[in-house]
Amino acid sequence: MKVFVVNCGSSSIKYQLFSMTNEVVLAKGIVERVGGGGNGNGNGRGRLMHTAGSSHIGLDVDAPNHTAAMRIILDTLTDPKVGILKSVDEIEGVGHRVVHGGEEAEKSTRIDETILDAIRRNAQLAPLHNPPNLAGIEAAMAAIPNVPHVAVFDTAFLSTLPPRAHRYAVPAEWYSKYRVRKYGFHGTSHRYVTLRAADLLGKPADSVNLITCHLGNGCSMTAIANGRAVDHSMGMTPLEGLIMGTRSGDLDPAVVLYMISQGFSHQDVDKALNKHSGLEGVSGLSNDMRDLLEYREKGEKSAELAVEMFVYRLVKYVGAYYAVLPNVDAVVLTGGIGENSLPVRKMFCQQLASLGATPDEDRNLSTVGGKAGPITANGSRLPIWVIPTNEELMIARDTRRIVAQGG
Ligand code: ADP
Repeated sequence: MKVFVVNCGSSSIKYQLFSMTNEVVLAKGIVERVGGGGNGNGNGRGRLMHTAGSSHIGLDVDAPNHTAAMRIILDTLTDPKVGILKSVDEIEGVGHRVVHGGEEAEKSTRIDETILDAIRRNAQLAPLHNPPNLAGIEAAMAAIPNVPHVAVFDTAFLSTLPPRAHRYAVPAEWYSKYRVRKYGFHGTSHRYVTLRAADLLGKPADSVNLITCHLGNGCSMTAIANGRAVDHSMGMTPLEGLIMGTRSGDLDPAVVLYMISQGFSHQDVDKALNKHSGLEGVSGLSNDMRDLLEYREKGEKSAELAVEMFVYRLVKYVGAYYAVLPNVDAVVLTGGIGENSLPVRKMFCQQLASLGATPDEDRNLSTVGGKAGPITANGSRLPIWVIPTNEELMIARDTRRIVAQGG
């Protein structure tokens, strides 16, 4: 079965085509600067990057909207010179990443009018993400009709958070009338590494207790009891929780009010907290962990502080989740930083010694480049594992399952 996975942002469409017989990626790529947006290449045109096996293409393309971009992708996939499909009819299911499913979305679901309505309704809660997700779905449904299209929600895996974890201690009407609560994000990644960890630890998926940490540009942590999410660091929006590339994570909400009283507009504060805080805000140098580690090596104090704060916040959250979980089987690190950043991982393991982590430097050094494995010693009371994430594969698996069930 061939499954097409689509991840649509405001100015890009990322895609992967899977053969689900053996879970192999047949082709993948991205159209950037859809609608002339993004970083801008000076000519107002979009850019296609496509890889199939050993062949790579990079082309300037006309992609004034998501429909045009989708057409370009499907034409490339079926181009006899570079493509690997004779016809789009070979695609048996399409999986879409959808950021916000609100309280309705507890699992991946075949897209129909009701689901489209739910995605539209939740656009208020995710104004930057749901509208482009919807544009991608509409473009793909028009271009590949007659096969199931499946929505895989970032929030779904976190829908099991109990009220004591997902409610904020604010007037109850804020929840009942305005839907103010923790929803959480990165759920597909947390679900993927949970299933993989259960497998690697030799435990049934419904009895594994984990603390999973997705550390990319956005960062989030989930407490997993018996395979289900019971707490999570991101909130009503992705701003809450850990320190991220450009997002502040937790802070006293009164800071927002104070900055507004100092003459900042609410848009200024929104932008500052989402786009110019986190690692970038503290260091004043970069939002990228690789850069900061280099600056730190050169003795830049602000980079050192940013990295120190990043790890401190992680460790603090692990402590909180450790306290609310029954016997933690492992802490799992994933995402660009979790999978690659050796100094961050080293500091993290060292600082969790009080909870029983015994760092193993050789394992830390060798568990890179897409490898999964523990980075603590055998017998460590708190095992810490690195498990590379694969959200696209999770989306493809859900899509295959729903197609096989007849939609
Ligand atoms: P996204 O959330 O956009 O998918 P990624 O998961 O790719 O992002 O994570 C990006 C982060 O991972 C950046 O801070 C980047 O510096 C970091 N990262 C990626 N590779 C390395 C590496 N080899 N060493 C240190 N940090 C890395």
